[in-house]
Amino acid sequence: MKNEYDLVVVGGGPCGSTVSTLVAMQGHRVLLLEKEEFPRYQIGESLLPATVHGICRLLGVTEELEKAAFMIKRGGTFRWGANPEPWTFSFSISPKFSGGSSTAYQVERMKFDQILLDNARRKGVEVREQCSVLDVLTDADDRVTGVRYVDAHGVQQEVSSAYVVDASGNNSRLQTKVGKRHYSEYFRNLALFGYFTGGKRLAPPNQGNILAAAFDSGWFWYIPLTDDLTSVGVVVLPEALEKVQGDREKALLGLIEECPLIAEYLADARRVRTGPYGEIRVRKDYSYIQDRFWRPGMMLVGDAACFIDPVFSSGVHLATYSGLLAARSINTALRGDTDEAVCFDEFEARYRREYANFHDFLVAFYDMHDNEDSYFWKAKKVTNNVATELESFVELVGGGASREDALVAPESYVEKKAPAFRELAGLVEQPVLVEGEDRDLLQSELVKSVVKTGSRIQIQAAMGENADEHLPVREGGLVPSTDGMHWSLPSRHLAERN
Ligand SMILES: Cc1cc2nc3c(=O)[nH]c(=O)nc-3n(C[C@H](O)[C@H](O)[C@H](O)COP(=O)(O)OP(=O)(O)OC[C@H]3O[C@@H](n4cnc5c(N)ncnc54)[C@H](O)[C@@H]3O)c2cc1C
Repeated sequence: MKNEYDLVVVGGGPCGSTVSTLVAMQGHRVLLLEKEEFPRYQIGESLLPATVHGICRLLGVTEELEKAAFMIKRGGTFRWGANPEPWTFSFSISPKFSGGSSTAYQVERMKFDQILLDNARRKGVEVREQCSVLDVLTDADDRVTGVRYVDAHGVQQEVSSAYVVDASGNNSRLQTKVGKRHYSEYFRNLALFGYFTGGKRLAPPNQGNILAAAFDSGWFWYIPLTDDLTSVGVVVLPEALEKVQGDREKALLGLIEECPLIAEYLADARRVRTGPYGEIRVRKDYSYIQDRFWRPGMMLVGDAACFIDPVFSSGVHLATYSGLLAARSINTALRGDTDEAVCFDEFEARYRREYANFHDFLVAFYDMHDNEDSYFWKAKKVTNNVATELESFVELVGGGASREDALVAPESYVEKKAPAFRELAGLVEQPVLVEGEDRDLLQSELVKSVVKTGSRIQIQAAMGENADEHLPVREGGLVPSTDGMHWSLPSRHLAERN
């Protein structure tokens, strides 16, 4: 029987909108089912340049984002490590990007997600809001063939499709249909957050930067959303969790008092008490990753597949980047000339790689934050505590598929990363001579690997060519096609280019 759709996407966040749009733009029939009615609240407001100038450009929403007049973010300002003074990291340190393409936005997610979802509709995606997906449908070979959902009238429906993509976020109820979720032993934090008006701004030109301030109980984010409105949240370390018990407002205000920099910035501010920003929210901020990202007929993308602590504002980047990778795989599989398993393995290997980049960076950064004599404090904890769960997490993060021994055993992981951790710590700990002075973190190997993928997406979007991605990232792997919307064999790709 013919499928009703080529693709059904579950969830209309940035990831679901990205994958659905990029598949519909190739002329395929795409249905997106979203549980809520938009606009709906979501956390994750600080974006990276690769999302704004890479994915959003591929999606065709550049002008709309400009019109929305979101706060321009030049980089991040950190009070972190042993260094008592805040220092700044600007995206423009990357020589590949200057001027407009070296900035990102701080966004109100209700507006940003709405722009991406409306764009999906315009690009041919059939979007149905207030439709909550309950389960997947399978055939006799256990291949996923569609979904069962409850529509806006409360009526159960079934829909068939060649592929199903789960982009339903961290609370996905479908992820168990693909595999198991592994939680990080390192990053088991909790986030508490609210909104303030009248907070102080960093001195120009950094007034739109995210400010991240570490203190004994964790670290704060301070994100200027407009000239007046600020998103303020604290990521609380497991050791300090008792401080978040009971009344949320009391807990948040108490933690603000503990962090002198944030207390100073909020000295004349008022907490927003009405509307979607009036609530103080709590989110478990555990980092996790699934042991498998796909099964025949179905993929997990965005937060449904993995999530990492938000200190580097990586969530929407990972979500939209995985949306692009998934779209390439589905577009290629639908064309029928490359096996689905080969296409989906490529998606999984690349998504894991990008997640692993942020994971390594994060381990190094949190070590500094703990401010112990040795940057291997966490590492020692790891090696003293070689749990099977941890081993499998390290293996998963690094992409067990790459069969790299150093990624399988925690001890060798730590050994391998030690010089990179030290290098980053050295750069961060240099004395700050001028308040807000830029740190050239690009000298760090960890930062370079994080910046690399973003640069490639931006070049693809700006130039219409796939930068330096002519070699596969693993043996037998594929490379992006010249249009960036499919996968090619490396040999075929070179022929296309010449
Ligand atoms: C404390 C905290 C701070 C963060 N800060 C940042 C930040 O500064 N920058 C950043 O980039 N990221 C940040 N993130 C991460 C960011 O929130 C996520 O990574 C991002 O929203 C993931 O996008 P997504 O599209 O995968 O999922 P989501 O944005 O969660 O979208 C999923 C959608 O699926 C829908 N859905 C759920 N279940 C169903 C169902 N059964 N049927 C149909 N639809 C369904 C939901 O309603 C939702 O609209 C932060 C996260 C946390 C926890």
